[in-house]
Amino acid sequence: MRVSVVGAGLGGLALAQGLRGAGIEADVFERDPGIVARFQGYRLVLNLSGFQAVRDCLPTRWHPLLDEIVMDASAEQLILDPQLNEIGKLGAGRTGIVVDRQVLRHLLLTGLTVHTDAALTGYDVLADGNVQAQFTRRDPATADLLVGADGVTSAVRGVLSPHTTPTDTGVRFVIGRTPLTDEFATLSKAYGSKITGDGVSLLLGAMRFRTPPKQAAEQLAAEVTLPDISDYVRWAMILPPNGSLGDLTAQNAVLSRMEGWHPELRALIEQADPDNSTLLSIRVVKPGERWASGPVTLLGDAIHATSPTGGNGANTALRDADLLRRCLIEANEGRQSLLSAVDDYERQMFGYGAEAVHSSLEKLPAFAPESKLS
Ligand SMILES: Cc1cc2nc3c(=O)[nH]c(=O)nc-3n(C[C@H](O)[C@H](O)[C@H](O)COP(=O)(O)OP(=O)(O)OC[C@H]3O[C@@H](n4cnc5c(N)ncnc54)[C@H](O)[C@@H]3O)c2cc1C
Repeated sequence: MRVSVVGAGLGGLALAQGLRGAGIEADVFERDPGIVARFQGYRLVLNLSGFQAVRDCLPTRWHPLLDEIVMDASAEQLILDPQLNEIGKLGAGRTGIVVDRQVLRHLLLTGLTVHTDAALTGYDVLADGNVQAQFTRRDPATADLLVGADGVTSAVRGVLSPHTTPTDTGVRFVIGRTPLTDEFATLSKAYGSKITGDGVSLLLGAMRFRTPPKQAAEQLAAEVTLPDISDYVRWAMILPPNGSLGDLTAQNAVLSRMEGWHPELRALIEQADPDNSTLLSIRVVKPGERWASGPVTLLGDAIHATSPTGGNGANTALRDADLLRRCLIEANEGRQSLLSAVDDYERQMFGYGAEAVHSSLEKLPAFAPESKLS
């Protein structure tokens, strides 16, 4: 069996790793001109089943490394004012495992065949049941199955399910990160909390690696090269509806809304890494009507993009990757046909994918009361 995976995000790469581990050929096609061509790094909280899903997709010899480059999620979620006084509670803190997306992505890339600068433009199902994908700047590729793991703007979905389109919630946020130094020790109660003031909210989260990723890879898995990054604080400011940066950099746009805030909060933004500070918008994709199962399917944000306030987008993409991997192994070993394996996957994925989008939208108003879908 040969599988073409479109999109080198967490979901597509986890699937490709899982298939490779089972001896199934998987090629990954990525639109970006290079693997590190753009901002890729922020911390994600995986729940235990999301973490188990990615673990199951990776070779067991890398499990000790994976365990060394994460941290446990904890901390009560408070609501603080701009002087860091407690003014409420957001609810129980999320439990699970915190991972850095960029680091996890590098681990997932190891050993895979990834074709960069290969944006999918369309595909054809051939008379023999195979599927041929077309790309910009490279030859078409033929496989038994094409998997669209190409995120919220999925070109694969555009052909397979053209009526399933993203909805813009109107929520904009600036995200960035700042090296975690002793200077920010007194901010620790703010990690995991929401700071509100002047119509904006600032969310902070610490990433403390058990061992720095580069060093951990050198010690535990010589064939893996991980980025040379240290502990940091991820910050995200939710702007008023349809907020923009104007002429300011992402960092200065955040600072301009923090006049009179606690000096350590301002220092945190002033010392941010400018290359990893950017404006993002929250768009969701709700899985619509199911198509007749065939040699093309979707996973992750391509079919169920959630609001990050739900904290379940990566978890659901990894769950898809692990589930599809298991179904395809069944087919590869002759226990069911390819089409019934894909049908099995899609039936389950549509159910929990729709639920993930719904629950993420329920949590959006706590962070952005004026969002359009709240
Ligand atoms: C600030 C923030 C915080 C988050 N926190 C959490 C969290 O705590 N927990 C959680 O579970 N989730 C979280 N998420 C969500 C999570 O990051 C995503 O849901 C998850 O990464 C989706 O993975 P994916 O593989 O489906 O898509 P993506 O990671 O978006 O990858 C899609 C890939 O496809 C490529 N691509 C696009 N179009 C084409 C094309 N035509 N041809 C080829 N390649 C293409 C893209 O370049 C990209 O590399 C958060 C998201 C944000 C923004």
